[in-house]
Amino acid sequence: MAKKIKGYAAKSEKSPLAPFTFERRDVLENDVQIEILFCGICHSDLHSARNEWKNTLYPIVPGHEIVGKVTAVGSKVKSFKVGDLAAVGCLVDSCRTCSYCEQSLEQYCENGFVLTYNGIDKRHGNSITYGGYSTQIIVDEKFVLHVPKKFKEKDLPGVAPLLCAGITTYSPLKHWKVGKNSKVGVVGLGGLGHMAIKLAHAMGAKVVLFTTSKNKVEDAKRLGADEVVLSKDANEMKKHLRSFDFIINTVAAAHNLDPYIELLKSDGTLCLVGAPPTPHPSPNVTNLIFGRRSLAGSLIGGLKETQEMLDFCAEHSITSDIEIIPIQKINEAYERMLKSDVKYRFVIDSASFKNEALEA
Ligand code: NAP
Ligand code: ZN
Ligand code: ZN
Repeated sequence: MAKKIKGYAAKSEKSPLAPFTFERRDVLENDVQIEILFCGICHSDLHSARNEWKNTLYPIVPGHEIVGKVTAVGSKVKSFKVGDLAAVGCLVDSCRTCSYCEQSLEQYCENGFVLTYNGIDKRHGNSITYGGYSTQIIVDEKFVLHVPKKFKEKDLPGVAPLLCAGITTYSPLKHWKVGKNSKVGVVGLGGLGHMAIKLAHAMGAKVVLFTTSKNKVEDAKRLGADEVVLSKDANEMKKHLRSFDFIINTVAAAHNLDPYIELLKSDGTLCLVGAPPTPHPSPNVTNLIFGRRSLAGSLIGGLKETQEMLDFCAEHSITSDIEIIPIQKINEAYERMLKSDVKYRFVIDSASFKNEALEA
């Protein structure tokens, strides 16, 4: 019999998140059952809960930055045992046979991946997937990550956001070969942005943060930025014309991209990872043509690279800067995230679910 699980869900785009009881499947032979300890709150959770991307299936239980402890494994599971720490990111399945899946680029699966929440789980009766704003999750072993042993128990809340904010910034930094001779720009200091600064700095790059928030300047330097530019100040922006190899843009709202494209060297790339609900104004083509500059995008990362990112973070003692909240504060956290009032990721302490009743 499937077990009842406590979670928090939004039932429509206008309703706040509220307690929600649901069932998870039984543990199948390849499954890992995880008791969730911590789950990060990504801006994508908010976009999805409020149907800002117009693709939400209700009720929605968001959460794709999951760290927990293994409480059961199926008979064929080889790499996890009960008591191990485990992590789950944005994906819980993909076709596993297309050319992208074969290269562990599951995020670009030709036949459609299965998202951790708001996904349709084709292998399990086309059920809707429910994410980490809950006490337990059951995931096929292939989509479960190992938490490196170097991380101590006290690090675990700060490890959770690596599963989305970490990999979403690590993957493009690696793809565009950021290293010690690179000058890298990071646009927006939120959950993704602060991870981009830490990671690019650890890769040896010179890092410049572009922010709209004056009060983040000192903090950005503490996180590893060599310089901070207030993006609304045209004179400050001008000082960096044609000087960047790579800029990663994490902003969650539509804005003019031209001022950033102008800062790229020839052959430089502006990579968009922020996914605003409305389109950016179309950029000026001349800026791209003169200088052979590229405008690109990047989606999370595959399983192999996500494990590589976790190992890299453990090696460099990198975790996310977080504020821990009980699940009961989730709606407040969303409002504060919208005001950029968090340094720099909210993380749910799943122990707080004990204060919720299981619905009959
Ligand atoms: P977040 O913590 O809310 O950070 C976004 C940052 O963008 C803010 O801290 C702010 O930085 C800046 N910003 C927000 N509104 C702005 C505006 N109107 N004008 C200029 N700057 C603004 O969000 P997040 O969790 O990092 O996520 C960022 C975006 O990435 C979201 O759209 C999310 O859905 C998307 N995302 C994409 C992927 C992917 O695979 N591509 C994965 C995860 C998330 P400053 O105060 O420094 O200006
Ligand atoms: Zn995310
Ligand atoms: Zn595939």
